[in-house]
Amino acid sequence: EVSDVTEVVTQVFDNFKMIHPDYVFILDDDVERPIQSQIYRNHLEQILIILLDNAVKYSQTRKEVHLSYESDSRSVEVAVQDFGEGISQENRNRVFNRFYRVDKARSRTKGGNGLGLAIAKRLIEAYHGRITIESALGHGSVFRITLPILSDADAAILNEKKAQAQAINDIPGIK
Ligand code: ATP
Repeated sequence: EVSDVTEVVTQVFDNFKMIHPDYVFILDDDVERPIQSQIYRNHLEQILIILLDNAVKYSQTRKEVHLSYESDSRSVEVAVQDFGEGISQENRNRVFNRFYRVDKARSRTKGGNGLGLAIAKRLIEAYHGRITIESALGHGSVFRITLPILSDADAAILNEKKAQAQAINDIPGIK
């Protein structure tokens, strides 16, 4: 499956803007051409939702979230930045573990199981990508994901194959 990263990022961003009118969302996209990545659209959506959801949940004091993406010929990098509570250095690796939550008492009131980031990391790595955290306690965090992208030629071939497969499905009587 080939997904247009620009389209998916923009769509998830617009949804968050609508769901959280009390937050300021800033989208920084410096991209002229479509970015095609070989990832299921649902998976990319899920990764972005997890990161944006956390950015909102853990930044109650300064309600601002930045989303940016840029690409070179081989990969796309998407960054989600908040200006919230931040994550200490010792917790930066742990937050990717299943069921790990930094502040057990306080986060209970915020809901969640500590699964989001574990799922996001698994998904990203399944597509040969990476996820990193930069954070300063009390100042906020940046979650950065990198995913490989397709060359225009490869994307064209895969899209053509998809169209052919669809054409076969559309012939009456053939399943
Ligand atoms: P859910 O299962 O709904 O995603 P969760 O938010 O607790 O619940 P994770 O997304 O895996 O689970 O996050 C794990 C922990 O990492 C959180 O409980 C929180 O302590 C910390 N964390 C995640 N994102 C941020 C962030 N942007 N700023 C500060 N802390 C964060």
